[in-house]
Amino acid sequence: MKSIPRRSFLKFLAFSTVSPSLFPAIVNADACKVQHPIMPPDNRYPGRCPVCGMIRPMWARTWITFSPVMEVSQVCSFHCLADWALKSGQDPEQVMLTIYHHPEKSIPAEKAFIVMGSTAAGTMSPVSKVVFAAKSEADAFKATCGGTVVDYPRALLTAKVSVAQENQTINKRRIEKGKILEPKQEDNCVVCGMFPARYPYGKCQIQTKDGKTLHFCSTQCLFAFLGRQNAYIDDPVTPLIVWVVDRSSGMWISGRTAFYVIGSSKVFGPMGHEAFPFALLEDAKTFAVENDGKAVVYGDVTIDKIVPQWNYKTE
Ligand SMILES: [Zn+2]
Ligand SMILES: [Zn+2]
Repeated sequence: MKSIPRRSFLKFLAFSTVSPSLFPAIVNADACKVQHPIMPPDNRYPGRCPVCGMIRPMWARTWITFSPVMEVSQVCSFHCLADWALKSGQDPEQVMLTIYHHPEKSIPAEKAFIVMGSTAAGTMSPVSKVVFAAKSEADAFKATCGGTVVDYPRALLTAKVSVAQENQTINKRRIEKGKILEPKQEDNCVVCGMFPARYPYGKCQIQTKDGKTLHFCSTQCLFAFLGRQNAYIDDPVTPLIVWVVDRSSGMWISGRTAFYVIGSSKVFGPMGHEAFPFALLEDAKTFAVENDGKAVVYGDVTIDKIVPQWNYKTE
């Protein structure tokens, strides 16, 4: 083989696309354990995942944005993307994935090379999905940190297969850590004073910015509270996360990405008329058809839609 003179070889390096196999990108072992989540949280990346409640300033490396699907347009991870795709029954479009090592950059999902299952830390899943813009970088990362290089459809499919199991594990951990507080027998509903612990499908709660948990017996009381806090408490709180119970599975789910059936004249909850929460839109639609109701998203639920002629009592 004819050797290339050094001068033109350097030119070749400078002006052409270098073959990845000839010059694999050098990945430092530190790249496997780059800090994730980001601490302290970096406020250059604003946003919150409505599926799980986590914040972008911490989880920016795995953030995903897309054209709105039923009012949701950003999630923290492939886990929450898969979760939302399954819950809404729609695969998001125009998906943009964040480059793991450059959280300030994102690329269209179709162009991404994703190292799945490496030693790098993931988000909401033990199987991390580390996004790269170049195959050479993904290959080099894989050589050092393990895993498999896959494309976007494969990564999403894997996340969908794992999401139910992962959600069970995550909920168990949330309850252990007090991120979801099971109401105790003596805890009262902030609105009506009843005992939420007695209503396994009615109970719901708000976690506030300053770490408080407010318990409710039902979504009727929850949305009455959200409609006018000062009818019930002196100092209004900033709700961070709302937890409700999926009527199908009995599991705690994020209230902001639940689907609600309102307007049923056949089924009633602890307070009478309710917004019945479901994880899956499909389940909500079926329940609505069977019980004369209508399935809507969180943003469409207001207390006066739950209870006809609702009136805040004034004393
Ligand atoms: Zn999330
Ligand atoms: Zn109540």
